Amino acid sequence: DRSPGLLELHGVHAAYGEVEVLHGIDLTVREGAILALLGANGSGKTTLCATIAGLVPVTSGRIVFDGEDITALDTLRRVERGLVLVPESRGVFPSITVDENLSIWLPSKADRAKVYEQFESLARRAGQPAGNLSGGEQQMLSLAPFLVRRPRLLISDEPSLGLAQLVTAEIMAAFQRLQQEGTTVVLVEEKARDVLTVADQVGALQTGHLRWVSERADVDEQRVAAAYLGMS
Ligand code: ATP
Repeated sequence: DRSPGLLELHGVHAAYGEVEVLHGIDLTVREGAILALLGANGSGKTTLCATIAGLVPVTSGRIVFDGEDITALDTLRRVERGLVLVPESRGVFPSITVDENLSIWLPSKADRAKVYEQFESLARRAGQPAGNLSGGEQQMLSLAPFLVRRPRLLISDEPSLGLAQLVTAEIMAAFQRLQQEGTTVVLVEEKARDVLTVADQVGALQTGHLRWVSERADVDEQRVAAAYLGMS
């Protein structure tokens, strides 16, 4: 039998030492979908991303990726299988140039040329320190390698954080391009507005519990607001 989801979490608990933060998450991410996970500050979004990536240990429950139990695999093994996290910090090294940043992931010049074709602002600033880029450009820089080397599943932790709406729309368009190329995408966000324009599935995280997951068409503003206000 083929499993219904590319990524499945079954009763996942995760903790920092004695402090449990995720209290039994059940989640199925459909292959080829964009799933938006919404949650207020401190609801456990970053912890969930880190747990899926293998950076925070699962204390009980299972994580299944492409039919394989990956609960005990380290982060590198998960990356090798095509499961990649872009962290909130974006993983950009500010003091080296844009081109040098890209070289870490894309050692081939031809691959970097593909990035510059897609992102003209990165091309113009290829020789400048990445720290000179705007927040939006830095987010593009952190996503760019994955647009060339398409992972099976890309998780992005708060991609719109600190970005103006126009820039956020550009970033969301980049995720849609990735999806069209066959990558499954999980976008974890505090602000619902922009992710709801691209999501196929939506879920709400609240104090370490996944309150609901549904198809985008079945989600209205009230439901999103309730997730934030703790009324669901
Ligand atoms: P934010 O939007 O602020 O990043 P979040 O939804 O991503 O919030 P988490 O960062 O996952 O939430 O935090 C969830 C809970 O876990 C919070 O109560 C936080 O204090 C706690 N927490 C986070 N990191 C650690 C840590 N390294 N050690 C102990 N507790 C932590």
